[in-house]
Amino acid sequence: MAESHSVVETRFHPASAPDYIPAPLLRDLQLKRLQAVVGRAYDKVAVFRARMEERGMKPEDIRSLGDIARLPFTVKSDLRDTYPFGLFASPLHEVVRLHASSGTTGKPIVVAYTKDDVDVWTNAMVRTLAAYGLSNRDTIQNAYGYGLFTGGLGFHYGAEGLGATVIPISGGNTDRQIMIMRDFGVTAICCTPSYFVHLIERAGELGVDMRELPLRVGAFGAEPWSESIRRHIESQTRIKAYDCYGLSEITGPGVGCECAFQYGLHIFEDHFYPEIIDPETGETAVEGEEGELVLTTLSKRAMPLLRYRTRDITSFLPGECACGRTLRRIHRITRRSDDMFIIRGVNVFPSQVETALLNVEGTLPHYLIVLTREKGLDQMEVQVEVTPEVFSDKIGGLEELQARLVHALDQVVGIRAQVRLVEPHTIQRSEGKAKRLVDRRNLTE
Ligand SMILES: [Zn+2]
Repeated sequence: MAESHSVVETRFHPASAPDYIPAPLLRDLQLKRLQAVVGRAYDKVAVFRARMEERGMKPEDIRSLGDIARLPFTVKSDLRDTYPFGLFASPLHEVVRLHASSGTTGKPIVVAYTKDDVDVWTNAMVRTLAAYGLSNRDTIQNAYGYGLFTGGLGFHYGAEGLGATVIPISGGNTDRQIMIMRDFGVTAICCTPSYFVHLIERAGELGVDMRELPLRVGAFGAEPWSESIRRHIESQTRIKAYDCYGLSEITGPGVGCECAFQYGLHIFEDHFYPEIIDPETGETAVEGEEGELVLTTLSKRAMPLLRYRTRDITSFLPGECACGRTLRRIHRITRRSDDMFIIRGVNVFPSQVETALLNVEGTLPHYLIVLTREKGLDQMEVQVEVTPEVFSDKIGGLEELQARLVHALDQVVGIRAQVRLVEPHTIQRSEGKAKRLVDRRNLTE
């Protein structure tokens, strides 16, 4: 983080103007938009009206931003329960786009956009890419999946809106990604961080040194990733690896992004109102304390969401950012309450395991957590790839590394895990969101 201060990009894109609205004006704008969106949700969506009536609330009761805390939450199951179109506030003839996410269980969730919604989303993505220092002089390879997933089209519209040259390559076909990156003089890539780690590795095998390419920016998101992965990526290439934040329910990517300082994500507060709550009680968290991020869409027409619980754990960063944006920042999200697993009564997040592993020299950012149950007792095995140098070393070196990793995991996670060191390329690579956890406890009981 420290060295990034010296290479701050100052080029300004007109779409970024709202990033710098003086705070009092921003609060006024938010209140007007909040009142409008609550009114729209109440008038057009039966679920929201019923819940507000249960609380004896009318849209006119929103007189200040603080009144938002009186509104009921919306949760992911509300989207499933009203499948497919029950939360829409616009008739289908005004809806120009549908996206859907499969999730892991049950029905998909469906999200809708009017033409205005697509414009707002595009604007947020232009602001995201501009914050990374990109412009119409860049060639952007978009390796997010195109389709019902919002990642591909979200970045595509943003990059075109910026006036950049877009390569809509979508995910997969790794060798072709590398050939095009090299031959087309690509300067920025958009994909999941785990897929980019895979691209670096494959490029090396093909004899392409990423440090020799003009590639200078990575727009990474769609999965939690740690500072250790950022360090790995930035040390293997010449790019600055930026985090972006979003979720389909709210708009897709483009809810928030890092700036040149790479310290916290600015939320596009003129369109998305953030709160952080205690996930147990639902009460507003003490300023600066960690909790669950809750978002209200301030501008959404087709599918407004009031106080949507994201399941993402973060906190607000205090103070103003040196970039001059007035938008509040949240800490990058390394934990989703959905990803948490409980082992022997201890809450564990895959990102904690990642941090513990990658802080020990000799490991590669490819790992898998396997949970099993033996004689009624939960077991955690962590498989992690080690560098070829370490792997070809004498057994003594491996044993020592293994012992250090067991200790590191115990320190960070509080669990004594089994660590299995594996050769490079043993663990399956992902072309989208990485799979870090296999839970076989119900199969092995
Ligand atoms: Zn900033």
